Amino acid sequence: MTTKTPQPSLARAAAATGVERSTAEAVNKASQRPLYEKRRKIHPKAAHGTFRRLKWAIMAVTLAIYYLTPWIRWDRGPSAPEQAVLIDIPARRFYFFFIEIWPQEVYYLTGLLIVAALALFLATSLFGRVWCGYSCPQTVWTDLFIAVEYMLEGDRAARIRGDAMPWTAAKTARKAVKHVLWVAIAVLTGGAWVFYFADAPILLADLARFQAPPVAYIAIGGLAFTTYMLGGIAREQMCTYMCPWPRLQAAMVDEDSLVVTYREYRGEPRGLHRKNETWEGRGDCIDCNQCVAVCPMGIDIRDGQQLECITCALCIDACDSVMGKVGRPRGLIAYDTLANLDNRAAGQPPRLRLLRLRPAIYVALIAVVSVFMLVTLGTRANLELNVLRDRNPLYVTLSDGGVRNGYTLKIINKLHRTRALRLSATGPLPTRVSVLGNPSTDDPVMNVGADRLVSFRVFLTVPATALQGESTAVAFAISDSATDTQVTYDSVFRGPAQ
Ligand code: SF4
Ligand code: SF4
Repeated sequence: MTTKTPQPSLARAAAATGVERSTAEAVNKASQRPLYEKRRKIHPKAAHGTFRRLKWAIMAVTLAIYYLTPWIRWDRGPSAPEQAVLIDIPARRFYFFFIEIWPQEVYYLTGLLIVAALALFLATSLFGRVWCGYSCPQTVWTDLFIAVEYMLEGDRAARIRGDAMPWTAAKTARKAVKHVLWVAIAVLTGGAWVFYFADAPILLADLARFQAPPVAYIAIGGLAFTTYMLGGIAREQMCTYMCPWPRLQAAMVDEDSLVVTYREYRGEPRGLHRKNETWEGRGDCIDCNQCVAVCPMGIDIRDGQQLECITCALCIDACDSVMGKVGRPRGLIAYDTLANLDNRAAGQPPRLRLLRLRPAIYVALIAVVSVFMLVTLGTRANLELNVLRDRNPLYVTLSDGGVRNGYTLKIINKLHRTRALRLSATGPLPTRVSVLGNPSTDDPVMNVGADRLVSFRVFLTVPATALQGESTAVAFAISDSATDTQVTYDSVFRGPAQ
């Protein structure tokens, strides 16, 4: 089943050139289509040109980033992992080069996702579905799988012929080798993913000796299966039916967004053209179907903007090549705005409006969230103290008449070395501080290991005669003389009613 969205501006452009294609007619045609259409296998033809080269380059960069990142080392000292990017689930840490995110700081990841989403909105409002066409993992891996298919089974015509012919030993062998290579790519893809969750060299050795945790093999198997299915088998079906982004992106694109367009005012009326025939009274489109043949989504861009179009621009390469051969100007299919289609059709000069309200709002939001995150990241404390006062019992009366309160102190040391922290409690009451397991009662010192969250049981004791009421303010302080750092936490001391 295909879904084509009638474009008002294209309809206007069509009307301006005398081409009869009204919106009502398009809607009528759509309503006559069956609700289910069997999948037609798409055999995309190999494209050659600027955008194909750009896509190869982006594929190489994105695959290199994905496969190589877990192998980058980063020295954080002896007490921390030396993998630059690591999601350490047992230790509840996310390491990204010099940044270390603790579980309490997960809002940084939320902020990062918000910035990434806004950047995607911005790119879409400026350049349409540029993410889908060039760097979405579905596009990158599908391109890779199609490249393997092309290598083994030939270009479009050979693949169509091969699929139609009966099964022979040679055909079976070719298909088998293709699927083995696809599975190998899928396993490598799943394999690379698990290296983000453990020290990559150690995990690789464990995997090779079949001594890695079962969850690693399960994750590799699951990801390999989805990669094989989505990149090798489902391909364009994933983009058309499973991904929500084609539906959402329509809200970010407007008449001034750059999208892949067929310049109907220039191409129509289309038709075959023989050598030495005049170009007078006809359009530049020679109806060669090359733009359709290279399209990985199997659509015809000459039908207007369509939900299936991922803006990969391969039809531009194909058509530019055809235009070069027949001696007509390139750009019959080109990146352009829908507003410009109207302008050009009306004989007015085109204009590119990158500075618009919508992108400006996205840029402002990205700036606000980024600055907020950078400031909070740059000023975050490397020592944190949290105090939980015992609620049951609220206080204990000792045999000497003193009153004691119990507290649990949680101390986070974000430095990669052990710290000796002196504890004190200040307030209007003469308190005696003691730490469970620590014999010192005079500002006891507590050792907190490198990059650790440690809990201590702490007691404050006050002579009964000194109590001033049921509840009196008290402030805990931990100080690190080596870094001249002090952190305080306000709490209360509870006693019997006076
Ligand atoms: S490649 Fe160009 S000339 Fe050929 S059918 Fe497509 S738009 Fe027309
Ligand atoms: S119509 Fe052109 S830009 Fe759109 S998916 Fe097909 S080849 Fe890519």
